[in-house]
Amino acid sequence: MPNLNIMVQKYGGTSVATPERIKAVAARIKSYVMKGFSVVVVVSAMGKTTDELIALASKITATPSSREMDMLLSTGEQVSISLLAMALHEIGIDAISYTGSQIRVLTDGNFTRAKIESISTERISRSLKENKAVIVAGFQGIDTEENITTLGRGGSDTSAVALAAVLGTRDCEIYTDVGGVYTADPRIVAQPSKLKEISYDEMLELARLGAAVLHSRSVEFAKKHNIRLHVRSSFNSEEGSIVMPKEEMMEKYVISGVTAKRDEAKITIRDIPDRPGIAARVFGLMGENRIYVNMIVQSTGKDNKASISFTVLKSDLDKAMRLCDSLKQELGATGFDSKQNIAIVSAVGVGMLSSYGVAGKIFQVLSEQNINIEMISTSEIGISCVIDDIYAELAVKVIHKIFIEPEQA
Ligand code: ADP
Ligand code: ASP
Ligand code: MG
Repeated sequence: MPNLNIMVQKYGGTSVATPERIKAVAARIKSYVMKGFSVVVVVSAMGKTTDELIALASKITATPSSREMDMLLSTGEQVSISLLAMALHEIGIDAISYTGSQIRVLTDGNFTRAKIESISTERISRSLKENKAVIVAGFQGIDTEENITTLGRGGSDTSAVALAAVLGTRDCEIYTDVGGVYTADPRIVAQPSKLKEISYDEMLELARLGAAVLHSRSVEFAKKHNIRLHVRSSFNSEEGSIVMPKEEMMEKYVISGVTAKRDEAKITIRDIPDRPGIAARVFGLMGENRIYVNMIVQSTGKDNKASISFTVLKSDLDKAMRLCDSLKQELGATGFDSKQNIAIVSAVGVGMLSSYGVAGKIFQVLSEQNINIEMISTSEIGISCVIDDIYAELAVKVIHKIFIEPEQA
């Protein structure tokens, strides 16, 4: 049975950006404590702190060691947890803050994008028993050598859901600067609809495809442990969006969200022999070097030659290009090139499973805007197109307009 007495909450950077915001968060936590909940709170670094720390490192070196980067980035969350604990003390609530290492958030050793492997509940449970609100630094852990690791940008969501999983809670509240999960990023589309409910699979697809509102690993954990995520605003008390199993949803749309991912680059390897083993060699090498490959498209030309295009994170582009260079002779490729200014624009919805013509309609609206589609990939519940980055927002708007706005009327 899930533990209904413990409430796990996570507050993002904007929610704790200033002393006033930290006090407001403390007041909200107090209201849960007064209702009798044992509260465990995960916090992000204040405002744009993580960006500022990255910028600071870039003033020292263009190639920082990833271990030292994690050492640096983890400091942001240490500031916010201690201030939040102090704000709670000020309003008469007993609270204690912990870093990731203090509660043994064990991760793999993959700096800057580590994965959580286990969390000890011992210290948290002890503090809860002493009637303390527990404040935990998001986004950070330690590897088996006790090096500090971080979970990738936006990783505090994952810290919170992983804690909810080990504490056995049914719900996890994710407080952010928007009212919930919308049909598109409210910064791009003027009036998107708030989704009262969204399935784990749709949310996972949206998060992987660029919807920053939730870190994709957090949705994986939530699905695996059957935790309901309540994404809501820390600026008001309105209900937000519940991420839940699809079987329990009341409403289903053909397309529940449109999103753009702008942190990837495209690599094309041209004129390689069209024979077995080539793709295995290219992507085997990328995998061995821990390069995350997203979309892959192969096209065959004449004379048994093929071209392969694929996308990698921009931050991995140089490394991926060096690996391609090392394969050039072996594969007999005539060349390879990369393009940085791309965007992957996607539409996601469980209703696609039972609808016709969705892809055709998307390609049509993009062509009406003269937007060239460079790559296409589909899944059961999503369609993604690689386009030039300058059209990213326009593409999101026109796809949203054709599929979602008629349903809003
Ligand atoms: P936090 O610091 O609270 O973790 P983030 O900036 O990581 O906040 O995530 C919230 C942001 O996600 C919103 O401000 C919004 O611009 C963006 N976003 C992107 N896609 C969506 C979407 N479909 N629904 C809601 N917000 C979205
Ligand atoms: N502070 C980290 C970031 O900005 C983690 C988070 O906010 O979730 O990415
Ligand atoms: Mg976030």
